Amino acid sequence: MEKKIIKDRGSVFCNSGSWKRLEVILEELQPSKVFVLTDENTKVHCFPYFLKHFSHDTKLEILTIDAGETNKTIASCNYLWNQLSNLGADRKSLLINLGGGVVTDLGGFVACTYQRGIEFINIPTSLLAMVDASVGGKNGVDLGVLKNQVGVIKNPKAVLVDTEFLKTLPQEQFISGRAEMIKHGLIYSEEYLQRVMRFDTENTTDLVWESIVIKNDVISLDPFEQGLRKTLNYGHTLGHAIESYCLRTNEKKTLLHGEAIAIGMILATYISNRLVQFPKEKLHEITAHILDTFGKVEFDKNDIDEVIKLLIFDKKNRNGKIQFVLLENIGSYKLNCTVPDALIHEAFKFYSNY
Ligand code: NAD
Repeated sequence: MEKKIIKDRGSVFCNSGSWKRLEVILEELQPSKVFVLTDENTKVHCFPYFLKHFSHDTKLEILTIDAGETNKTIASCNYLWNQLSNLGADRKSLLINLGGGVVTDLGGFVACTYQRGIEFINIPTSLLAMVDASVGGKNGVDLGVLKNQVGVIKNPKAVLVDTEFLKTLPQEQFISGRAEMIKHGLIYSEEYLQRVMRFDTENTTDLVWESIVIKNDVISLDPFEQGLRKTLNYGHTLGHAIESYCLRTNEKKTLLHGEAIAIGMILATYISNRLVQFPKEKLHEITAHILDTFGKVEFDKNDIDEVIKLLIFDKKNRNGKIQFVLLENIGSYKLNCTVPDALIHEAFKFYSNY
């Protein structure tokens, strides 16, 4: 059966269905010009495959940024806005974001702001972008090391997922993407979580698609982020702070997004056990699986203090209060939880000693 999710905006299509859909969209939009945004890696590894499937006779321009999180900045937007302008982009132009989460987050933001908004499509090429970043309409950039502080929410015209792209994705990036899939299992479905934990024996396209369906379910049930949708931030409160801290300090290796979120999920699950009785045996099962998949990073007391200081920038905070999403069990959540600093230290100790 064809894998697709149909919505007013942000419909998602999979594999061959994606390329058929691209033709339909181009026919419908009749764009004045088509711009394809890549980073330096997806230009080499993904653009040729994309070209094979692009049969429309519209003029195509390629825009390229340097790869990596440190380029998810307003400076990159400025460069792209200028490029679009110099190359004659108008309001009927289409931007296709062909890349990982950095390209889809940044490209979405550029499209939403250039001439007050041009049409855009996401074609995610990393596992993380397929299962998470390209779906849901969150677009934006970092502010210094602070994650996603500037942005807009708008769905792309469509998301076209083709798992063939994963063949050239470096292994560590592939593993990074698994973090968000584990998250989808934790917040929504024990059955899916078990399948993600058996990743190597499962069909990748099926797992990718199921993650997309879970994310879409969550967003559709709570479009204005009143409750359930906040669970997509599970592990991200500490995970983003850890990611920012490692970006900022020279003494720490820069972590991939999924690597930081994986640590954040162990910490959040430990805290969930202590504060809202998340079952202990499941805490151990998840911790062992995540450490086995992602390895371990060392944090000393000073690192932890600095990470705690960064929590103040979390976008869920209200009136200066840091608000955690915790889990009472898999698929059963508790929002707006306050966590004492001492318990965060204890969670890091649990992580370090495991
Ligand atoms: P990324 O875009 O930096 O891609 C990872 C690396 O893989 C890059 O070097 C890229 O060039 C390379 N790459 C991508 N596809 C490739 C392919 N097919 N072959 C070879 N190389 C390839 O990072 P990411 O992990 O994809 O995404 C992380 C970003 O996503 C973060 O900025 C995070 O904040 C964001 N994010 C956004 C949302 C959202 O809802 N908008 C959700 C989760 C994460």
